[in-house]
Amino acid sequence: MCIHVIEVDVQSEIAVWDPDEVVITVQRGTHPHLLITELRALLAIDLGAPTTATGALACFCGEPVTIPGERAAVWAA
Ligand SMILES: [Zn+2]
Repeated sequence: MCIHVIEVDVQSEIAVWDPDEVVITVQRGTHPHLLITELRALLAIDLGAPTTATGALACFCGEPVTIPGERAAVWAA
């Protein structure tokens, strides 16, 4: 089951891992660069997901993790 990233309106931190739902919730409106930095740290350090040579976000299984909406295009660029 792959990790999904979903946006929420309000939470205490930029990115929060929810192991029950296998989702990372991210605060809507966060600057994409900051969001990616936070997600990369969360995935690699807290969840032990593999890091990729390109710096793209990856699931446990190595599949790419996509960010909701238009941000996907930003980090892929
Ligand atoms: Zn996966």
